[in-house]
Amino acid sequence: MQAQPKRILLKISGEALSAEKGVAYDKSILLQVANQIKQAREQGVQVAIVVGGGNFWRGRQYLDINRSASDYMGMLATIMNAVCMRETLTSIGVPALVQTSITVTPIAEPFDPIKANEALNEGKVVIFGGGTGCPYFSTDTTASLRAAEINADALFFAKNVDGIYDKDPKVYADAKKYECLSYDQFIAENLKAMDSTAVIMCKENNTPVYVFALLEENSIVNAINGNTKGGSWIK
Ligand code: UDP
Repeated sequence: MQAQPKRILLKISGEALSAEKGVAYDKSILLQVANQIKQAREQGVQVAIVVGGGNFWRGRQYLDINRSASDYMGMLATIMNAVCMRETLTSIGVPALVQTSITVTPIAEPFDPIKANEALNEGKVVIFGGGTGCPYFSTDTTASLRAAEINADALFFAKNVDGIYDKDPKVYADAKKYECLSYDQFIAENLKAMDSTAVIMCKENNTPVYVFALLEENSIVNAINGNTKGGSWIK
């Protein structure tokens, strides 16, 4: 991206918040993310966030429960992550609020795009919890949906992988990273860095997507400043 975006939707994978299997959060990762969001805000960028839930719940593979119930459990996990992110941000002086698609009023506000827009304009960080509120979807799709609803200039995907590869870089040493690819190419090659529904939504709404490693130093701030050499663009 050439110019600094005015408003971004940052999707943070739940798994990237955890450094150790079986431990939901790594405090230093939470603070590293929060401090970068603080810096983005100080640079005048409005930040909305969607967090995944993979640090708590990775699906029903080992339990005999149905898909919908499992997906709702995943959505509840994203609400815990959203509240945790809010508390981390407020602890370092960044005003933040959580809006959820599934109502949990004692701890978060219900999703309201008008109020979200107002809060972003006031410089507050808005965290969307609970996914879309519908099973059979993902937080990737939630991120593309909310990015469109708040008219974000770009969708930033912070993951525990540093971009989009033609095959899994953890399995194949010769996996090739894309610097930039089109939405159609991503779909045609059946790539896995994001789910295809999310990519199609981004295509339809002209939302540029940047995929990068959350844990690389200053990765969020670098992306905002147009220093996007390490990751992959879809546009
Ligand atoms: N989920 C869902 N609908 C949504 C968003 C999420 O059913 O709109 C469920 C789904 O089961 C998903 C889980 O919540 O696997 C947690 O989200 P995700 O796996 O996307 O988190 P991440 O991999 O980014 O940590």
